[in-house]
Amino acid sequence: MIALRPFPVFSSPLLQESGLVHHGVSGRPIGCPEDCVEANMSFDWGDQTVATHYRSDFAERLGVETSSIVLPRQVHGSDVLVVARRGHDRPFLGQADGLVTAQWDVALGILVADCIPIFLLDRATPAIGLVHAGWRGTVAGIAAKALGVMQDECDTKPENCIVWIGPSIGVCCFEVGPEVTAEFQNAFPRNGIEFGDHIDLKQVNRQILLSKGVPDDQIEISPECSYCSDGFFSHRRAVHRGLERTGRMMGLLALRR
Ligand SMILES: [Zn+2]
Repeated sequence: MIALRPFPVFSSPLLQESGLVHHGVSGRPIGCPEDCVEANMSFDWGDQTVATHYRSDFAERLGVETSSIVLPRQVHGSDVLVVARRGHDRPFLGQADGLVTAQWDVALGILVADCIPIFLLDRATPAIGLVHAGWRGTVAGIAAKALGVMQDECDTKPENCIVWIGPSIGVCCFEVGPEVTAEFQNAFPRNGIEFGDHIDLKQVNRQILLSKGVPDDQIEISPECSYCSDGFFSHRRAVHRGLERTGRMMGLLALRR
């Protein structure tokens, strides 16, 4: 066992209060250099053995069994998969950027570094959904699609849902070119948000979920910006500092037994 460097774990008071889920987003060790491998949760970058140790440590801190974690192959799309059973043999589920389950022995996982981890809990069924939403997924309405899959597959009602829009890049640091601004203007012509050279992805996703019937006081938005704070891996910050890639943080969500 290697010596693990302490790293922060972020969580939602609203989800915590529900008492129904184990959940969290892993952070990056404070003071680590930009190419820090410690607490990286991705197997596609850095050292896989190191990542395995950190994944286990993170899962343990959340009270989740490592073997219950399932991850999709994220492609910045809007497909959402239903996880019907535990996948020891198939920890990777195929291409998708959203997962939904009503199984208590499955922990949904996604990897992020600036993109938004969106946690959905239907308190009544109960059922859960976890989404990876970058700007492309946001434009494609993946948050609404995940909610729709929960409605179709789990009889979820939006008014019973609690949502956490987790730590991710803030409007302060998400500067975009005119072609990206145009995509948002076309996709959301009447949602009350002015789209300029900075896009507030968290607010856009909040608006999407409000329009689908999730009550405003049941949506919590993390104030943290992954670019501004040393406590997060940030793809954009790493690129601005001359790196091609950096580590990934993990969002985990599982129903409590
Ligand atoms: Zn920022």
